[in-house]
Amino acid sequence: MAKHNPYACYTFPNCGCYERLCHWSEKAEEWIANPVPEEIVREGLLCAYFMYLCIEANCHRPGWRRAATLQLMHPVWTDLRKEYP
Ligand SMILES: [Zn+2]
Repeated sequence: MAKHNPYACYTFPNCGCYERLCHWSEKAEEWIANPVPEEIVREGLLCAYFMYLCIEANCHRPGWRRAATLQLMHPVWTDLRKEYP
């Protein structure tokens, strides 16, 4: 059974995902420079995953939707896709 999805939201760009997009790109750079514990990274990935799903489904800018689709094809999301199909 699919788990409840805590970050689902489908109103981009009138939702938190736009802010999250800026937030997570900063975080990603920070984490590459200064590694953090695995559960923090996992939580961040989960949050970013749903953000990209929201952008892919709802953004009115085709270029952004394409970029989100490309992001979601990355192998880093494979486990999350199984967990939250
Ligand atoms: Zn959203």
